[in-house]
Amino acid sequence: MKTIFVLIAILLIWWVIRTLRSGRSNPSKPQIKNMLSCSYCGLHIPEDEVVQHHNKAYCSKEHAQKDNP
Ligand SMILES: [Zn+2]
Repeated sequence: MKTIFVLIAILLIWWVIRTLRSGRSNPSKPQIKNMLSCSYCGLHIPEDEVVQHHNKAYCSKEHAQKDNP
């Protein structure tokens, strides 16, 4: 009877370690955004904040206008 409890304890510890490991590695990993550089000033901006103009990336509308007069 004692061996069953030992087995359950080992399984429980193994399960806890496994869930802790998987929980740590998956959601906490920060997403690295694709960075683009401004065609006018060379500033690096995340892809979703880029101002697109004539297939070029700019940090702001002002730089897009300055580069394309
Ligand atoms: Zn710029």
